[in-house]
Amino acid sequence: MKALSILLLGTLLFGSTPAAQQPGVVDLVFINGNIYTANDRQPHAEAVAVRGDRIVFVGSNAGVKRYQGRRTRVIDLHGATVLPGLTDAHCHLIGIGQREMTLNLEGITTLEDFLAKVKARVDQAKAGEWITGRGWIETFWKPPVFPTRQDLDKIAPNNPVFLTRADGHGGVANSAALKIGGITKETKDPFGGQILRDKESGEAVGMLLDTAQGLVARHIPPRTEGDVEQAVILGVKRSIELGWTQVQDAGGSFRDVDVFKKLYAEGKIKIRIYKAIHGPGSDSQRLLREGPIIGAFGNRLSVRTIKVVSDGALGSRGAALLAPYSDASDSKGFLRVKAEDLQPMLRESLRKGIQVETHAIGDYANRFTLDEYEKALKAVPAAKRKIRNPRWRDEHTQIVDRSDLSRYAKLGIIPSMQPSHAIGDLHFAPARLGLARLAGAYAWQTLIKSGAIIPGGSDAPVERGEPMIEFYAAVARKDMKGFSGAGWHPEEAVTRDQALRMFTIWAAYAAFEENVRGSIEVGKLADLTVLSADIMKIPEMDILKTHCVMTVIGGEVVYGATQGSGSAASDMTHLRAYRWLGARL
Ligand SMILES: [Zn+2]
Repeated sequence: MKALSILLLGTLLFGSTPAAQQPGVVDLVFINGNIYTANDRQPHAEAVAVRGDRIVFVGSNAGVKRYQGRRTRVIDLHGATVLPGLTDAHCHLIGIGQREMTLNLEGITTLEDFLAKVKARVDQAKAGEWITGRGWIETFWKPPVFPTRQDLDKIAPNNPVFLTRADGHGGVANSAALKIGGITKETKDPFGGQILRDKESGEAVGMLLDTAQGLVARHIPPRTEGDVEQAVILGVKRSIELGWTQVQDAGGSFRDVDVFKKLYAEGKIKIRIYKAIHGPGSDSQRLLREGPIIGAFGNRLSVRTIKVVSDGALGSRGAALLAPYSDASDSKGFLRVKAEDLQPMLRESLRKGIQVETHAIGDYANRFTLDEYEKALKAVPAAKRKIRNPRWRDEHTQIVDRSDLSRYAKLGIIPSMQPSHAIGDLHFAPARLGLARLAGAYAWQTLIKSGAIIPGGSDAPVERGEPMIEFYAAVARKDMKGFSGAGWHPEEAVTRDQALRMFTIWAAYAAFEENVRGSIEVGKLADLTVLSADIMKIPEMDILKTHCVMTVIGGEVVYGATQGSGSAASDMTHLRAYRWLGARL
């Protein structure tokens, strides 16, 4: 008994990994922080010591002193709030960068402004040159209707135009682009897509949903390798400035992976990327054949996931529903994948230890995903799997029949959700779905109470991709003006403590990384996000005014303070300046 209590005391004093906790001078020390660790055994701290890329001490200002030597860089946080390095558990990194590079149509509130912005680009283009862009959402326009090819023909008679809706599940083409795509009255809808048509004439009106976009998009000149590299660099820069330390990149190809590898090798990107590869298809076959990449480039790059897309999006009525749309009685949306194509790949993934994540928005798509996962899990029992608990994910989990909500925890399926979808959709989802179906929509608290964990993401560039918007959306469940309509189920909002987990330890779990990342704990990678205000305590609306002042990845300050000067005094000056800016914003 005595031996046990001494052992326990030892653990309390020195942490669970005594070797890492041993004193000795370190490279980097943070003091005077308001540190939320996301570690239940030690939820709050003042100081952190970092050796190499790892955390070796978490505790008090007094306790960290023994790690300080003459060459230790000391960053005085002056009370700033520190969180475990934030993770965006679902986004599209190259798309984020491309949004910065092409015509960005975000935030436009009228059809007139939309056309004016496109026209300005057309006026600079040569005749025949493609005009592409992304980011528009018509649901805020008056009236909230899709733009048409005729609208675009007026401003772009001589250039093919294709403009993707923010959600990526629809795009509008002008007549020149439809012609290049060979789309006529006779063209049939491809599987998993729809050509929207004039009810009387049957002519295409310009809007192409989901896979139908490919009819036009495949004629757009491909991006060069240089363009993709540039997009990744811009996407990474924006992400670390916002405080993200890892992005879980929801889909793509091995071509993307090659670009990431090149940029890591050249030292041009520092963020951690957890990359999924689209399937079923040849790229996912390659992943199954070659096996996963885990923790390459100093725990920065992992590729161990296949991304499936099972339906479209709610805004464009491509989400697959069990019953027709409330505002379009002739449509239930559509699935984009067939069970017979999916099932062999799912089973092989279990045998090979590959994670699967499936985009599912509508209640039918979510049930389909749960059903297909369950079938595969039954067909390949735990003993025959390379990884017993494969941690398969359901990306979005937006509209779920109430009777299906408890199945996630039961099956060990991870609902990976993006809080900003709920606060963007609240303006049109009631019309699309009716009030009754909202009972299982964005049902965060019900899912958590049932035993599921929810990794939190932004789905940028579908949404803005800012951690403070996501955190606010999760805890407030109101739009950015503080509005929430009738039937929007405020009880499904999460607590701040749950929100913190969504973007840290739960996101790490969803990537099999909860032992190396996701909390501020001795032995884990030193990833930290420093904020201008205490988002665990300030009034809800003030979360939106909060911003990142410093991002640390693997013990390296990659954004904020003074990058690499080593002078603690100037670090303090900078941090004070940032905090002053924060106070004024
Ligand atoms: Zn997405």
